[in-house]
Amino acid sequence: MKELILAYQGEMTLKGLNRGKFEARLIKIIRWRLEGLGKFKVRSSQSTVFIEPLEEDCDTDEAYRRISHVFGIVKLSRAAVCDADFATICETAEAYLGQTLRGTKTFKVEAKRADKQYPMKSPEICRELGAYLLDKHHHLRVDVHHPQLEIMVEIREGKAYIHGPKTEAAGGLPVGTSGRALNLLSGGIDSPVAAWCMARRGLALHHIHFASPPYTSLRAKLKVCTLAKELVEYTGNCTLFVVPYTKPQEYIRDHAPDVLFTVLMRRSMLRIANRVAKQLELEALITGESLAQVASQTMAALACTDAAQDLPVLRPCIGMDKTEIIERSRKIGTFETSIEPYEDCCTIFTPPHPKTNPTLAEILEAEAAMPELLALEEQAAANVEKIPVRMGQEFE
Ligand code: ATP
Ligand code: MG
Repeated sequence: MKELILAYQGEMTLKGLNRGKFEARLIKIIRWRLEGLGKFKVRSSQSTVFIEPLEEDCDTDEAYRRISHVFGIVKLSRAAVCDADFATICETAEAYLGQTLRGTKTFKVEAKRADKQYPMKSPEICRELGAYLLDKHHHLRVDVHHPQLEIMVEIREGKAYIHGPKTEAAGGLPVGTSGRALNLLSGGIDSPVAAWCMARRGLALHHIHFASPPYTSLRAKLKVCTLAKELVEYTGNCTLFVVPYTKPQEYIRDHAPDVLFTVLMRRSMLRIANRVAKQLELEALITGESLAQVASQTMAALACTDAAQDLPVLRPCIGMDKTEIIERSRKIGTFETSIEPYEDCCTIFTPPHPKTNPTLAEILEAEAAMPELLALEEQAAANVEKIPVRMGQEFE
C-alpha cells in the first residue's frame, strides 16, 4: 500500500493572481526541508501539496514533523492512496485503518470529491464505506456528531486518498513571500517569538545580536546562536550578525545622563541594525518589545527609539501579555534556552530608575553631547561577526 503526506495550504489559497508565486515558494521550501530524508516527489494540486516517498527507506516520520513547521501549511495528514474504484477504496481503508478501528468504539466516514465525474456522490461513498467497515468490525458504532475516529476519503484525479484526522500545522505564509528583515535577537524570551511571528507572516529574516564582552560572556553569545538554530526550522537558513557593542555602550554610560541611558542605548542599537540591514538590502527591523513591559517600552520611549532611524520597526509582541509570549515560546521550542541565566547587554549598566517618559528633545540634546557616538557605531557595524545558521541549503 502506498502512503504519502498531504499538506493543506492555508491563507495563500486566497492570493488570487499571485498564488502561483506563493505556491512555487512553498514547494521549494518543502523540498529544502526534506533534504537528507530520502527521495520524495513533491507536487501541488487543488490547494494541497502531495509529498510522496519514492524509496523504501525515506524517513516519513521526520518529513511529517518538519513539514508541520513550514509556514503556508495549515493542516497535515498521512494518507493511503489507491485507485478510485469503490472496491479498492474499501479494501485500502480496511488495510490502512483496520488496526486503528479495532481500538475505536465510534467512527464516521467523510468523503470529498474534487473529481465530480466520479460515479458515486459523497453521501453514498460515506454510507457504503461505513457499512463495509461496520461489517468488518462488529463492535463499532457510527456517531456522526462526536466520533472517536473520522475517516476521510478524498477523490482527486482518479485516485482516492484515505486518512484519519488531520493535525495542525504552522499556518501563515511561506517564508520569503513578504520581503526580508533583520531581527534583533537577545537571549530573552520575547525576541525569538517575535522572529517566529514575522517569519510566519512570510518574512525571510536574518538576526542581529549585540554583545558587550567582557560584560557579556561567550556563553551568552552561544545561547543566542542556539536560539537562532532552534528557529531555523521555521525561518530557514540565515545569518546571525554579532555586533561588538562594548565601546558604544561604555561611551553612552560615561557621557549621558543616567536616567536616559536605556533609551539612548536602544536608539544606538537600532542605528547599527539599520546600517547592517541596509547593506543587506533588508526592508525592516524586528524587535520583541511589548508595550509597557519595561521602562524602555513605554509609548514615549518607543517613539524616541523609532525616531532614531528610518526603517520600519516591526514589533509583533507589542500587544501580547508576557504569559502569551511564554506560551508561544514553549510551543516553538525556544523557552528552555531563553531562560538559561546568561547576561544580556541590555541589562548591564542600567540605571535603577530609568525615565519612562523621555522627550525626543532631551534625547537629541543628550546625543549632541556625545560627538563620538556615531563613529563608534559605524566601527561596530563594520566589525560584525557573521555566523551562518544552517539547515540544508537555503536563502540563496
Ligand atoms: P525578555 O524576555 O528578557 O524581555 P527581551 O529579548 O525582550 O527578553 P528586552 O530587554 O525586553 O529583552 O529587549 C527588548 C528587545 O530589544 C528584545 O526583544 C530584542 O528584540 C532587542 N534586544 C535586547 N537586547 C538585545 C541584544 N543584546 N541584541 C539584540 N537585540 C536585543
Ligand atoms: Mg522583553
